[in-house]
Parts: sequence; structure tokens; C-alpha cells
Amino acid sequence: MSKPDKSEGNPPEQGVSRRDFLKKGALAVASLTAAGYILKQDFIKKVFLESPNDSIFTSKTQITLGKWSRKALYHTSRGGLVECSLCPNECRLDVGGRGICRSRVNVNGVLYTLSYGNPCSVNIDPIEKKPLYHFLPETKAFSIATGGCNLRCKFCQNWEIAQTNPEDLKTYEMPPEKLVENVLTAKSRDSLVKSIAYTYSEPTAFYDYMLDSSKLAKSKGIRNTVITAGYINEEPLKELCSHVHAIKVDLKGFNESFYRDVCGAELSEVLKAIKTIHGEKGVWLEIVNLVVPTLNDDLGEIQSMCEWVYENVGPDVPLHFSRFHPDYKLKNLPPTPAQTLIKAREKAVEAGLHYVYVGNLATEKGGNTYCPRDGTLCVERKGYIVKNHLKDGKCPTCGTKISGIWI
Ligand code: SF4
Ligand SMILES: [Zn+2]
Repeated sequence: MSKPDKSEGNPPEQGVSRRDFLKKGALAVASLTAAGYILKQDFIKKVFLESPNDSIFTSKTQITLGKWSRKALYHTSRGGLVECSLCPNECRLDVGGRGICRSRVNVNGVLYTLSYGNPCSVNIDPIEKKPLYHFLPETKAFSIATGGCNLRCKFCQNWEIAQTNPEDLKTYEMPPEKLVENVLTAKSRDSLVKSIAYTYSEPTAFYDYMLDSSKLAKSKGIRNTVITAGYINEEPLKELCSHVHAIKVDLKGFNESFYRDVCGAELSEVLKAIKTIHGEKGVWLEIVNLVVPTLNDDLGEIQSMCEWVYENVGPDVPLHFSRFHPDYKLKNLPPTPAQTLIKAREKAVEAGLHYVYVGNLATEKGGNTYCPRDGTLCVERKGYIVKNHLKDGKCPTCGTKISGIWI
């Protein structure tokens, strides 16, 4: 299976004018008293209405529900207005409106998800590609994604699907039962297939599909992994955590203005989600930081990020620094210099983190796991080729337990 091509052209979005929307937004804001809420709405306006996708909030395009579309979790309805509480964007949508994630829509006063049971990408990947380095090494993940994302990262590496409405992509018909059946078939042909990865775009945009699939997969002995930006509210995140086994969070930087201006999100919400995941028993956590030249590569900021990780989730959560490749709206920037990534890794080691990696770049040590006690090489990685020297998850020399889920 492979990633299908995008379908020809998107239907025109006929949103109300920016002035009308702002007027409407101002009225809505005036009717609210919570200062925090007003700030959030202002932030949303600033980040999203200045983009070419102004119309997605209030699209008046006729929305047709798909075969598997269903009422979305985590929302309230009042009159025709719906309020979504799945992610910190907390969209308020009039009838015909579409959330920032592109996948949740208000149809006649009820919020529906369009991204249920219809993945646009289906592949079997090495788990190291996610990257998850301390979770079932050398195994494979049945990986799926639908269209949509609740962020707007200007460096998005999967923008063709993440920044497209789910119904505008060619998709597979794969409700949770079919997905799990496909995974079991793949597993019977290749015993290294051990998990599902909800990945590529942003699984929060297909939360309902992911949640139902995870429950079913878990009941059949399949593990679930989530590759996410971690921009999700606490209650739905906790519900998800009770059915999944590993989560990789993209911590995109350590600066609020970078998060707002370049990613369309709030750093504080992502940090909160990381702490929530870490607090959930039975969920393995890894963090990735994509280092983008001139935007988030300040070594002082990277050091602060490493210190935050150490203080809030401890030294045993793996931290990956990943190399940026020019893409989407940041084609003008060069790839991250190797030296920047090597220095970032040094900062993290100095901060006391035990497992620090460099990704998307071949380095001598950056892919390997070393024993934090005596420096023994425990897991060797060259690309996706892995040599695992651990003995029952322990250092082969001194027997120190290396954090992770190894079997
Ligand atoms: S999940 Fe989608 S609709 Fe809901 S608040 Fe987030 S962006 Fe808005
Ligand atoms: Zn050791």
C-alpha cells in the first residue's frame, strides 16, 4: 500500500469576507466575559485570518458528510452554534463552519468528523522512522493518516495531506474494524508488524477514528502509537492515553512567539500535554525537536528546553533533535547545519538527559543508545538498521535498566 495521490483540485471555499467575519467575531467576543477566552479568540484571529486560508472557519460551502462521518466527541451545541473542546483552538462554529483542523464541521448544529474511517495514507514503516527509539525496536508500525491538522506549521513536511480537507484527498475505506483486520493480516505475513501508528498529518484531527481504532486494536493485542504535535486538551488526551502505548510529541521550539507565528499554536499547551502524557502510566513518551535555522536554533533556548525536559519529565525521556529540510512555506531556508544539531545534543547531555539523538542526519553517535551509567553502546542505529545489544532491556555490561518498552 502506498500514499495515494491528491485528487484534482479542491472545491472553492466560499467563506464570508474577512471584514464580515471580524465583525461577527467581535460580536461573539463581546458576548463573552471570560478574559482568557477573549485572548484565545484574538490569538486565533491573528494567526489564522492572516493566512490564505481565511475562510475555513466560516466556510459556507455545502458540506457533504462521508460514508463514515459521525458525530464528533468533545463538543457542545447551543442553537446552531457548536463549540469544540478537543484541542486548545476551541473553535466556535456556525452552521456550515469548519474547524481549523479541517476535519470537524458543523452540520445543522451538530459537530461531525469527516476524517473517520477514510485514511489517505497507509504504509508499513520501521518504528524507528516515527521516530520511536525506545519502543519495540526493529519492529514495524502499520501507519495511517487522514487529511487535516490543527496547526499551521510553515515548515510542515507533510503539508500535502495535513493542509488539505479530508474529503479532498483520495482515501481508503477503512473503518476501525477493517483497519484492525488489515493489521492482523499484515502481522500474519510479517511478524515484525506489532503496532499501529497514527501519524504523518496530525492524529488530533482524526481523534475519533484513532480512539475507536485504538480500543479495538488493543483488544486484539496490537499496540497503538501516536505521532503528534501534542496540541490537544487534557480530558481527550487522558482518554486517549488509556488505550495507547507510546506517544511521540513534536516539541517544535521553546519560545511562545515562534509557536504562534510559525506553527499557529501555543507552547504552554504543548508543555501541559507532555506533562500529562508523562503522568499517564503505561504510555511511553519520546520528544522530537525539529531545529529550523534562524527560527528556533538559538542554543540558549535549546538549553532552556532541555532543562525543562529534565525538570518536568526527567532524564529518561528520549529527546531527538531532527534536521530541517526546506519545505512548504520555508523553502528559502537552508537545511539545518550538522554542527547545530551536534551542539544541541551536547547541550541536552550537559543538562543531564540520558538519551539524546540526532535525526535525519548521519552522525557517528547521534543514532545510538548508550548506557547512562558506564557509556556502553546498547543499541546501535544506522538509518533504520538496528543492532540491539540489550539483555532483557538492560545494559550488557553493568545491567543498568535502559528506559523503554523493549518487548
Ligand atoms: S479539534 Fe478542530 S474543530 Fe476542534 S477545536 Fe481543534 S481545530 Fe477546532
Ligand atoms: Zn552499563
